[in-house]
Amino acid sequence: MNFQARQKRFGLDYDACFDRALAQLHDERRYRVFADLERLAGRFPHAIWHCPQGPREVVIWCSNDYLGMAQHPKVVGALVDAATRMGTGAGGTRNIAGTNHPLIELEHELASLHGKEAALVFTSGYVSNETGISTIAKLLPNCLLLSDALNHNSMIEGVRKAGTDKVIWRHNDVGHLEQLLRAADPDRPKLILCESLYSMDGDVAPLHKICDLAERYGALTYVDEVHAVGMYGAHGGGITERDGAASRVDIIEGTLAKAFGCLGGYFAAKANLIDAVRSYAPGFIFTTALPPAICAAATAAIRHLKTSQWERDRHQDRAARLKSVLHTARLPVMPSDTHIVPVHVGDPEKCKQASDLLLTEHGIYIQPINYPTVPRGQERLRITPSPYHDDALIDRLAEAMIEVWKRTGLA
Ligand SMILES: *Cc1c(COP(=O)(O)O)cnc(C)c1O
Repeated sequence: MNFQARQKRFGLDYDACFDRALAQLHDERRYRVFADLERLAGRFPHAIWHCPQGPREVVIWCSNDYLGMAQHPKVVGALVDAATRMGTGAGGTRNIAGTNHPLIELEHELASLHGKEAALVFTSGYVSNETGISTIAKLLPNCLLLSDALNHNSMIEGVRKAGTDKVIWRHNDVGHLEQLLRAADPDRPKLILCESLYSMDGDVAPLHKICDLAERYGALTYVDEVHAVGMYGAHGGGITERDGAASRVDIIEGTLAKAFGCLGGYFAAKANLIDAVRSYAPGFIFTTALPPAICAAATAAIRHLKTSQWERDRHQDRAARLKSVLHTARLPVMPSDTHIVPVHVGDPEKCKQASDLLLTEHGIYIQPINYPTVPRGQERLRITPSPYHDDALIDRLAEAMIEVWKRTGLA
């Protein structure tokens, strides 16, 4: 019996469910189309856009490959070399296939990067948060989770899966966090969850104040450094390293997929915590480990950024220059303390339209950021300059944005 006949016979309209869900997104102007792009190693941030009219060269202005490490010769070289020597896949979960040696080296490198006893690698930053937070919480009987209101979806899912009590503190509001800690049973284990650098607004958490509260109320601290590792601190250890707070934060979580240019997630902490999560976390145990070549490439990126300051300096310099040029052009740059350069639009349709015009008319790719990634009314273009966006590219971006702002009635 084919699909249509089955629907009819049982009076179950499966098609209607999918179609209705899609229609709703179209109605709310939230339906997403992914650009078909081909990044060009050695020519970052240039890429080929495979549009309906054929291939076309464009400049990418919104990549989370923040430092261009995905094309760095040392990183690509390490990947090719490891794949040639060890093949592609890991061959199974670590329970079944053992651990490939490059993954052991990677975990040592990560533990050392954050000054922790041990680190554990997952297949993505998303998985490390989701399975990590829920597993740590389950290991602490009657744990209370205290989560910042703007935490990433992967942390929210980790909190949900933990199935224990949670309270949400207003974003970066340590006064509110203290109120919630004070109200909680002093005998109860507590885990404070935040990000160090919030990627939509580019603001930074007051980590020392949060650690002060953790000490005062006996809580553990878990900090997502996904948008900071590689980019901040003298060795790329993130905001915790920059602010001298790494030893005060109990669990530092990060990704290998953004500034390190590869794939995978991890956290670093005390050895017994890592060993317990390794032994209990379903999202770690029941999935195939990262390929050895990816591990070798990530290790090469981390090692390079531990000693090379050039990428970090140039990254900050580019962000400062871009902010200043856009300000001068009277474009509504939102305040940001970091390398993230958000430009306010405040309307989902215009945001999509501006993004489309930049791509089709100017060969500039910046994807629109709409609800639910940001609240309604705060739609924006989120620009992430890299060390490889030179003055000429910045000036061309500003001119293109001025033109698009006029055309869409935003100016
Ligand atoms: C991207 C992101 C993650 C997930 O990391 P991936 O390695 O891409 O899965 C986790 N936390 C934050 C804040 C992120 O922006």
